[in-house]
Formats: sequence, structure tokens, C-alpha cells
Amino acid sequence: MKRFYLESYGCQMNVYDTQGLARMLEDHAFVRVAEPETADVVLVNTCSVREHAEERTLNRLAVLGRLKAQNPNMKLGVCGCMAQRMGAEIKKRVPRVDLVVGAQALPAVLPALEALDRGEKPGPQVEPLDHYLPPPRPRFDAKNLKGFVTIIRGCNKACAYCIVPTTRGPEVSRHPDDLVLEVHELVLRGAREITLLGQNVNSYQSAGVDFPELLARCGKVPGKWRLRFTTSHPRDMSREVMRRMAAAPRLAPWIHLPVQSGSPRVLKAMNRDYSLEHYLDVIEAAREAIPDLALTTDLIVGFPGETEAEFEETVALVERLRYDTFYAFKYSPRSGTAAARLPDDIPSELKQARLARLLVVQRRLAHEVNQAYVGRTLEVLIEGADSRRGHVLSRTGQNKIVVLEPQEIAPGTFRDATIERAEGQTLYGRLGASA
Ligand code: SAM
Ligand code: SF4
Repeated sequence: MKRFYLESYGCQMNVYDTQGLARMLEDHAFVRVAEPETADVVLVNTCSVREHAEERTLNRLAVLGRLKAQNPNMKLGVCGCMAQRMGAEIKKRVPRVDLVVGAQALPAVLPALEALDRGEKPGPQVEPLDHYLPPPRPRFDAKNLKGFVTIIRGCNKACAYCIVPTTRGPEVSRHPDDLVLEVHELVLRGAREITLLGQNVNSYQSAGVDFPELLARCGKVPGKWRLRFTTSHPRDMSREVMRRMAAAPRLAPWIHLPVQSGSPRVLKAMNRDYSLEHYLDVIEAAREAIPDLALTTDLIVGFPGETEAEFEETVALVERLRYDTFYAFKYSPRSGTAAARLPDDIPSELKQARLARLLVVQRRLAHEVNQAYVGRTLEVLIEGADSRRGHVLSRTGQNKIVVLEPQEIAPGTFRDATIERAEGQTLYGRLGASA
């Protein structure tokens, strides 16, 4: 039996892939260990979306590489987006790396490990493979009530700043029957909240089934559980999806709809594929259709050429739409993308200042938006106790944490909670009588 250790960086889709890698290795007589020091194989699944993520991972790889000095038999592998993007360059930066397998070739990990065992030195594996990893084997305990299912891999958009279409390739949707089965298995094993994942879930299309139909099919899996999805693309988010969300209590009233910028010029330069008017129309329709909808977004500050006035348009948009929360990032040039050919002309300190300004607005807005919940009763999923004070943590369909008084209550149950106060992003509430 060989022991393997896995680390995952980046998005939830990487976590899903990492769990798939674990399943593949376990199916081939490997056992997972919790510390790299005791492993024969150490694999790191990586993210390329911003330069900072890559730098951190290279530092981590150098640390893991030093473990090989104590354990020369250990094999060190790099998988995922960085491996796909950098290929042989990774071994130049961290010579102790034995194995490089790109995001589009993950099943090649096993044959590459076998080749290493035979004393061969396999080159970087980045050729896309048309088969994929086995779905993760769900392991549920009281702490883990959430399941994730990647429904579509890759991306067919061409946002000027984004490396994802390069690292993950074109869209491939998984077969709906496999997905419904996977959701079923997760629910049977105790999942109470399942999130369907993709870079653009709205463009899901397989075997004649589109995204609204997939939602309907997955939503029919019996049991008490809730369904979410992310990420939605403003261009492809349809009225039909909104109608389904409004009609099916199973579907959580939350949409993550990245806008990236409030400036029409910057949006165009980003090649985001929608106008600001279109985005505003989609939000208006969604808020009209879905009661109690929570809305979140992603923003990029300091895209090449972004003027102060254009940044202010982003601030104004955020103020106008009153997002429940948002994630803001400093633009990071990624070589090979269209934007990397433009000068990265916003100084780092100015990007930082714009980010800081947005975060101040975010804190104020989150506080204001959350005040509107005080006095309301919402269904929450009990997630467990916090380790410090024993408070019970729960989550609403809007993806908001509700802190409850310490009490005996089984994680995984759904209950009604009345919100008593709101502080920043957090709501504090009291449970009603049990159903
Ligand atoms: N597919 C999703 C979408 O269209 O929004 C998310 C893709 S990406 C993994 C997650 C977020 O990272 C993006 O929404 C964007 O805000 C940010 N991002 C992507 N590339 C970036 C870059 N080069 N610099 C800074 N932020 C970036
Ligand atoms: Fe990247 Fe745009 Fe695709 Fe999202 S939609 S993954 S930001 S190219």
C-alpha cells in the first residue's frame, strides 16, 4: 500500500477535482494520509487565476521539495491549472518536482506515477484527455453537510483577463444521468446542501438537457435538502432559470452573478460579452421573479486603463444594486490572455487603494442589507457548533450565516430561525418551536 497526500488550492472546482484524484488513487490501492511527511506521493492541485496564487504555490512546492531530502523515495507532483499553463517551466522553477499533470489531463496522474516507479522520467502531461476523473467518493460526517458536483468543465467565453479557458479548455458538460445519480448518492449519504459547479453553469447542455431542465431533474431527488449553483454568467442566465428558482423551494434564493466592472468601457475592454444595460435587466428580472433573493458578485479593480471615473462607476453600481456581498480582486496580468498585451498601467498602490475603498463600501452595504432581515423568520440549515463559544452556526438559503445560542441540536436539520440582530455579514437569531 502506498500513502498519498493531497493539497488543493483555488476554486471549489479544484476541490472537487482533488477529491476525484483521491478517489482514483484509493481505487488503486493507495491510502490517504494527513501529513506530507509520511507520504510516498505528494500531489498539489493548483490555481493560476492570479499571479499571487502561483507565487504562493511555488513557495509551497519548494518547502515540499525539501521533504524529499529526508525521504528520497517520495514523489512530488503538480496538477491542475498551473501545471497546464506552465508545463515544463515548473520543473525549472522547482527541480525536485517529479510529475506535472495539467487540469485537462488529470487521469494521467496514475500512469505517470507508474512510470516513475519503473524509473522513467515522464514529461509534463498536458494533452487533453477525453475521459475524466471518477466523481469524489462522498464522505459525510456531522461537520460536512455540503456536497459539490461539477456539472460543466472548461469555459467557452474569452474574458480578456482570464486564464481559465486556456488552462481548463472548452466547455464539456457531464451527462445528466450521471449528475442526477451523483446528487442522489450525496443526499443518501447525508448531504443537506448541494452546489452544482461550473465556470458558467448556465451554458450547461448535454444529451438534450439544458441547465433549467438539469435543475428540475436534480431537484426531484427526494429528501430534505437544498440546491445551489455557481457561477452564473450574466449573458446566459435565463428567465427560465429564474422561474424555476421561484417555483421550487428546493432551490436556494441566491445568485452569484459576477459583473467585474460598472464601467461600460471597461466591460467592453474585458470582452465580457454583455452590456451594463443587459446586466441591470437580468438583475431586475431576477429580483422581480425570486422572492428574498440574495445577490453576490465578483469585481476586478485596476484593469488596464481603468480611470478614476471608471472605478467610480463600479462603486456607483455596487451602491445601486446593494449586493449582499461581493469579492473584489486586483487585476493580475496573466500571460497568454488578451489583456496581457495591454500595459498593466495602474500602479499596485492605486489598485490596493481602490480595493480598500470597495471593501469599506462592502462592509457598510452588508450591514445595511442585513438590517432588513431583523425580525424576519427564515429557514436555516443547522451546520454545527463553533469551537470557541459553542454557538450553533446555521445557514439560510441566501447563504447567510445565522448564529444561534448554544444548544443541543443535530447538525443537518432544517429549522425556522427569527433574526434578532445583524452585525456586519453575520445574522444572530433564535430558533422557533421545532416542526
Ligand atoms: N467563471 C466565473 C466568471 O465568469 O465570473 C469565475 C471565474 S474566476 C475563477 C473567479 C474570479 O476571479 C472572476 O470572476 C474574476 O473576478 C477573478 N479573476 C479572474 N481572472 C483574474 C485576473 N487576471 N486578475 C484578477 N482577478 C481575476
Ligand atoms: Fe474566465 Fe470569463 Fe470564463 Fe469566467 S466566463 S471562467 S471569467 S473566461
